[in-house]
Amino acid sequence: MKVLVINSGSSSIKFQLLDMADESVLASGLVERIGEPEGLIKCELRPDTDGEEVIKIQEKVPDHEHGMRKAVELLSDKDKGVITDRADIGAVGHRVVHGGEEFHQPTLITDEVLAAILKTVPLAPLHNPANLDGIMVARELFPEAPQVAVFDTAFHQSIPPHAYHYALPYEMYEKHRVRRYGFHGTSHMFVARECARLMGKKPEELNIITVHLGNGCSMTAVKNGKSIDTTLGLTPLEGLVMGTRSGDVDPAIYAFLARNCDMDIDAIDNMLNKESGLKGLCGLNDMRDIHEAIEKGDEKAKLALDVQTYRNRKYIGAYMAALGRVDAIVFTAGIGENDDIVREKSVEGLEAFGIVIDKEVNAQRVKKPLLLSSKDSAVQIWGIPTNEELAIARQAVEIV
Ligand code: ADP
Repeated sequence: MKVLVINSGSSSIKFQLLDMADESVLASGLVERIGEPEGLIKCELRPDTDGEEVIKIQEKVPDHEHGMRKAVELLSDKDKGVITDRADIGAVGHRVVHGGEEFHQPTLITDEVLAAILKTVPLAPLHNPANLDGIMVARELFPEAPQVAVFDTAFHQSIPPHAYHYALPYEMYEKHRVRRYGFHGTSHMFVARECARLMGKKPEELNIITVHLGNGCSMTAVKNGKSIDTTLGLTPLEGLVMGTRSGDVDPAIYAFLARNCDMDIDAIDNMLNKESGLKGLCGLNDMRDIHEAIEKGDEKAKLALDVQTYRNRKYIGAYMAALGRVDAIVFTAGIGENDDIVREKSVEGLEAFGIVIDKEVNAQRVKKPLLLSSKDSAVQIWGIPTNEELAIARQAVEIV
C-alpha cells in the first residue's frame, strides 16, 4: 500500500510518500516559508534509488492550501512524478499536533473527528489550523483514500493525573482543560520502541528516558512502554531549552514583564516562543552555529550550550526519580542525532548513577542506531534516528 504522510507546521509542510510493502520512500519533500514573500518547495523523488531526482522551486506560497496542491502536483508530474494514479494512494496520514484529551490513538478522520479537532484549536492556535487545512485539501485531492490523524499528544495520554495536573485552582482544569498534554509523542514512541527492539526486549519490559532535541526539545519518561511524564506542557513551551523557546521559566515572569517592561500578553508570548531559548541567550538558534561561535571565543554561545545541557541533565535526574529504575536513555532528532558535545554534556557527572558514555563511540554522528554507553554503564545510552513520517505511515496502515 502507498501512504502519503502530511506533516504541516505553522509555516511549512513536510510530505512523504512511502511504499509500505517494504517501507521504502518514494518521495520526500518540504514546502517552506508559507505566507512569506518567497516560498521554497523542495522535493526528492525516488531518493532510495539510482533514479533520484531533486526538484527545487522558489515562488510565493500564499497559504497551506496552495502549498499542499503544489506538493501533490509535483508528486503526480506526468514525466517525473511518483503518483501515476491518485487512486493508488491507500491512505493519507496526517500529523495533528494537539488532540486534547479526546484522542488517545490514531483516528480515522470523519466529519465528527474534524469537528473535535476544530475544538482543540485554542490549545494549539499556530498548528492545528494548518493541520486542518492539510486534511481538507487531502480529502478533496484523494477522495477515495482513508485519511488518518496521528496526534502528537496521543502517546502522552497515559500520563497519570499526579503528573499532568498543574497545581492551579481545579476549575481551570474542569472548565478550560488546562493541564500538561506533552508533544513530540510520535517521535518518543518510535524511538522507545526501536530501543526495546534493539535491546531484544518488549517495550513493556523496559523503562526508558527519551530525549528529543531538535528545534523543539522535549524529554519523556517511558515506563513499561507508556509515557508517564514529559517536559512539554499545555503548549509546546515548557521544559527543556529549545532553539527559540525558553522552556521552564518562573510563571511570574508574565506579571513582572507586564508591570515593569511595558509588554503586553502577545509581546511576552512572542518573546518566550520566538526570541528566547538558545537564540535569546546568544543570538543563534542553530547548534552548529553555536559551536562555531564557541570556537571563536563567544562567551554567550558557551553559556547557551551550558544552560541547555544543564537543563537536560537536571531532567534526566528528575525522570530517574519518576521511573525508579532506568534501563536506557535515548537521544534523537537534529541535535540528539548529530551533536556529540550536547550528548556528552547532558550526561556528564552522572557516572555515580550508572550512566557512563563511551566518548569515542559518541564522537560519531548517529546515522543509524548506535549504542553510545561504555560496557560498564548500568544504563544503556542510545542514539536512534527518529522517523516520524514512517511512524505515522505505519499507524495509518494499522487503522486502515
Ligand atoms: P525540527 O524540530 O524542526 O524537526 P530537527 O530535528 O531537524 O528540527 O533539528 C534541527 C536542529 O538540529 C537544528 O536547528 C540544529 O540546531 C540541529 N542540528 C542539525 N544538524 C546538526 C549537526 N550536524 N550538528 C549539530 N546540530 C545539528
